[in-house]
Amino acid sequence: MKDSARAVIIGGGVVGASVLYHLAKIGWSDVLLLEKSELTSGSTWHAAGGMHTFNGEANISRLQKYTIDLYREIEGLSGQSCGLHPNGGLMLAATDGELDSLKLICSRARYLGMETEMISLAEAQNLNPLIDTSHFIGALWRADGGHCDPSGTTHAYVKAAQQLGASVERFTRVLSISPRREGSWDVLTDKGVVRAEHVVNCAGLWAREVGHMVGIELPVLAMEHHYLITEDLPELAGREREIVNTTDYSGEIYLRQERRGALIGTYEPHGVVWSPVRTPDDFTMQLLPEDFERLAPYFEVGFRHFPALGRVGIRKAVNGPFTFAPDGNPLVGPVRGVRNYWVACAVMAGFSQGGGIGLVLSRWMAENDPGQDILSMDVARFGTFATPKYTALKVPENYSRRFRLAYPNEELPAARPVRRSPIYDRLIAAGAVMGANFGLEHALWFAPAGMAPAETPTYRRSEAFPVVRAECQAVRRGVALYETTNYGKYEVTGHGARAWLDRVFASRLPLPGRLALAPMLNPAGRIVGDLSIACLAEDRFLVVGSGFAEEFHLRWFWLSEPPADVFVRSVASTLTGVSIAGPRSRELLQRLTRTDLSAQAFRLFRVTETAIGFAPAILTRAGFTGELGYEVWTTPDYFTALYDEVREAGHDLGLTHFGGRALSSLRLEKGYGSFNKDFRPDYTPAETGLDRYVDFDKPEFCGRAAALAERASGARRRFVVLEVTETDVEVVGFESILRDGAPVGYVTSGAYGHCIDRSLAAGYVPLALAKDGARFEIDILGQMRTAIVRLQPLYDPQGLRLRG
Ligand SMILES: Cc1cc2nc3c(=O)[nH]c(=O)nc-3n(C[C@H](O)[C@H](O)[C@H](O)COP(=O)(O)OP(=O)(O)OC[C@H]3O[C@@H](n4cnc5c(N)ncnc54)[C@H](O)[C@@H]3O)c2cc1C
Repeated sequence: MKDSARAVIIGGGVVGASVLYHLAKIGWSDVLLLEKSELTSGSTWHAAGGMHTFNGEANISRLQKYTIDLYREIEGLSGQSCGLHPNGGLMLAATDGELDSLKLICSRARYLGMETEMISLAEAQNLNPLIDTSHFIGALWRADGGHCDPSGTTHAYVKAAQQLGASVERFTRVLSISPRREGSWDVLTDKGVVRAEHVVNCAGLWAREVGHMVGIELPVLAMEHHYLITEDLPELAGREREIVNTTDYSGEIYLRQERRGALIGTYEPHGVVWSPVRTPDDFTMQLLPEDFERLAPYFEVGFRHFPALGRVGIRKAVNGPFTFAPDGNPLVGPVRGVRNYWVACAVMAGFSQGGGIGLVLSRWMAENDPGQDILSMDVARFGTFATPKYTALKVPENYSRRFRLAYPNEELPAARPVRRSPIYDRLIAAGAVMGANFGLEHALWFAPAGMAPAETPTYRRSEAFPVVRAECQAVRRGVALYETTNYGKYEVTGHGARAWLDRVFASRLPLPGRLALAPMLNPAGRIVGDLSIACLAEDRFLVVGSGFAEEFHLRWFWLSEPPADVFVRSVASTLTGVSIAGPRSRELLQRLTRTDLSAQAFRLFRVTETAIGFAPAILTRAGFTGELGYEVWTTPDYFTALYDEVREAGHDLGLTHFGGRALSSLRLEKGYGSFNKDFRPDYTPAETGLDRYVDFDKPEFCGRAAALAERASGARRRFVVLEVTETDVEVVGFESILRDGAPVGYVTSGAYGHCIDRSLAAGYVPLALAKDGARFEIDILGQMRTAIVRLQPLYDPQGLRLRG
């Protein structure tokens, strides 16, 4: 065995094999994969090998397509067959909601260049004669997808990697990993020590244990999963083509042909966690005992929906464990605080996702950048809130919903409410309907007296629509409050704070007493943050951004290597806040503070430390609604008193609450983009319009060279807000934007603009087409709707109300 390698990959399942191949492919030939047993001996060997391009996130769909297309490449290089059956996919809907979701998938697929269409049930039955169409109301067909041979595919990756110089040691167990002073690792195995610059945790069922080797607790858990293989089906005898792989959403069943029989699997509602605390060392190429009694009711649904299956015997049953993260997407990337340690685990669809994961991780390791936005599979989307107990509740919830399509207005209940702000009970008493962001409860909207604080999951307008309208109007006409505790907040202090922030952020830093909008770029000049920086003193800054990105941003700050005289810490749990917005917000707040809030004395983007009632507070004049507004930050011990005083002071002014839904509507009326939805690491300053905050004259900041190059060459596309006509449904994200029937862009977010009475979509279109009044079409749930570019904000285009 080699005693050193540039990278050691722990785990020879399909994911480790793909990472090995991709590292070798980009020229890291000095890479070594260590496998404690035979290749594939974890989850991989007994997988059903199904592959598809479906994912709620466009970028993950693209990576899944890349994975499927890659198999021909590795077959060619290795000479090893992947056992491909590229017979496409069928998705069946039994309810109106499921049908809507299939139509949404179709709209999304168009821009992604994937061949997908809604087909009749008769056509579906032609592609799969086992379907009893009386149980369904609609079907979608996708050209991409099918199934492969799990073992053949893994070996093809490995052989292709070996041809490029990579090494593999089977039957070599990693026992521990120790950091060396200069940042590399000593990987101790049962066959000796390997010194590695980088270590990659691809340990699948043992990812948790390999995480423990470096002191981290990854939110990953294994579930048992059953599938059955039937005896030969007379219905398939003599057919020339295999039936198309079929997903039955309401039955929670997947089905494909296996020789002349069928393979049928289910994601049952009350799944069983496997090895909740520790994965046994000696579990190798093993299956688990079948539990037919528990699973019979769920397979019986399959036998009703595909009746031929119930008429033959079962040839084989498989019950095997595989791993999930709490939201079902993989965990990929570097981990804050552990240098040169990477993870690629919790991959529950290894044959759809393994290739794409190898691609982005290898780029990330070699170039310090995954090369595209992968926020939704970045390990940093989870923070300390994802404790083992949280994971233990969320993973089974996700498993039980594997084939249940998530509605855009749906909030999942497991492990909630746990992280609560001090005013949680007061907001609930006010009718708040809560969502969870980074584990923290926050109000989405407030049910008025007499209305149940609950919402029907739907792709269409829900009962919350008129309520959110009233909240928006309250902000625009009077005064309303929104809790901002769920924002990501960081304190940056110390003698070197200004110089360090100046390097990390692309914007000009504010002087003491001021606040600035502050984009953050990666070296490739793409947006990794859209935050605000408030300068409280020369050596003290409050940085505020998206709550969901807290760990992502903390990791970014850590990777940006603050020097010894700079202290960066999250104040997510030690600073609580409210936004008070609306034309009467000044009048309200002035009742609670001696600071002069007059328009001349406390202008837009001012910040001060003052007292608001009893509470020592940081007060900024800022907000996201486009109205006159303020944000008040205080510590949790004062927060309830602050809230009570604000409510009391606002009583005669008609103060009400507003929630996240209203905020989404108000911000789009003003044309403001939001990080995570509209601004992500795929986009540049010029594309997003954030270039107006970039200080191109600064001699140094991360991403400067790329941003300057873009300024010289011009952007390719542009972020725009479009007014959608004649629709009674709002876009949700990733729908295709078409021009003359051809997809030219896609939607990033949408909302109804209640105060301008228009449906709004935000997204990207080619720069040359991004003209005011330009007309496009958006396929919204199967209906083509006209969408007109509005380059000026539709509400208060001069920003007079904001500055008032
Ligand atoms: C019944 C069933 C059906 C499935 N069907 C499908 C399907 O149709 N399509 C699909 O895409 N996915 C399917 N899956 C999921 C699929 O199996 C996983 O996504 C995939 O196998 C994950 O691969 P992995 O490489 O991450 O993990 P694993 O396959 O678990 O590989 C991890 C490897 O790491 C090794 N290892 C661990 N610790 C150490 C150590 N300390 N030292 C050295 N080596 C170590 C292990 O021995 C193991 O070989 C199915 C899973 C099950 C259980």
